[in-house]
Amino acid sequence: MMPAIETTPRRQAPQPMDIPTLRDQRTAVAAPITVDELVVNWHVTEACNYRCGYCYAAWQREDGRRDVVRDEQATRELVSALWAGFHPGNTANALSRTLRWSHVRLSIAGGEPMLYPQQVLDIARQARELGMRVSLITNGSRLPEGEALEALARQLDVLGLSLDSFSTAHNLRIGRADSRDRTLSLADMATRLRRARAANPRLQVKINTVVSAVNAGEDLVRALDLLRPDRWKVLRMLPVVNSNLAVDDEAFASFVARHAGRVAGMSVEDNTDMLGSYVMVDPQGRFFQNGTGTQGSYFYSQPITRDTVHRAFASVPFLAERFAARYRPMATAHGNVAGTA
Ligand code: SF4
Repeated sequence: MMPAIETTPRRQAPQPMDIPTLRDQRTAVAAPITVDELVVNWHVTEACNYRCGYCYAAWQREDGRRDVVRDEQATRELVSALWAGFHPGNTANALSRTLRWSHVRLSIAGGEPMLYPQQVLDIARQARELGMRVSLITNGSRLPEGEALEALARQLDVLGLSLDSFSTAHNLRIGRADSRDRTLSLADMATRLRRARAANPRLQVKINTVVSAVNAGEDLVRALDLLRPDRWKVLRMLPVVNSNLAVDDEAFASFVARHAGRVAGMSVEDNTDMLGSYVMVDPQGRFFQNGTGTQGSYFYSQPITRDTVHRAFASVPFLAERFAARYRPMATAHGNVAGTA
């Protein structure tokens, strides 16, 4: 799900950047910035059942055999390590010199995390038992039905859906379709959201839409009215992976203007806002950050469970100010929420 994120930070192509690590920032920040929650995005897999033309993961997909999510014990150890390192009371964390938070939210992302439905449920349960909030970022196609959906919804604070269009033709052109060319149905998604909300009335629904040349002319207001997201984030597709889908300035501005004031909880995220502003863990359990690192287009830490969380996190770039700006409180359709992402 990212930038082009689908939603989350990983999906779009990486951008060159020059941002400091926490080690570099030791003397640069005078007083810690306070936020409500620290969001840790764990991309549990690069694999996905869709093939979006703008998806960076689709052309740099690694062999998933070493993915932590495939190993139950390693999964539990990683979730425990993240809580031990980031829980708000741990002032030994180097990040606490620049940022203070009251809650930790583990955001389970991909690829498509619901390719591992039981593992996602287990991760969410463990994270909640430890004291974390939990969000799931998904393309929606593998959301379960019935009691399984209710069980999942009860473990979540935020359900994030990456939805670009409800036109079958457009979804096929973007690549938002599975191997049998099945696309998401608006009516089906509305039904599932109703059931998920009934099971967990405090569940917040976030929708992320990547605007490309294919969907830039659409009006999504009626569809969004039906789904009633608490937040709707609009992202612009980056033309690095597939310039055929690139949207020009005028078409993007027109899309934003067409929806502005008509959809509650709408926010527009510029791609540059995202650089260095996410805490991200890759499928192999390493912190990573966009940039021009020694291992290609990303900076990677050592595996978190083989190092201390503090030392591993301090080795990748991160900008606390940019994180705080992205997660600032904002009014939404159904009350105030902790942040924009
Ligand atoms: S739905 Fe799948 S293919 Fe599309 S952007 Fe997300 S991870 Fe990539």
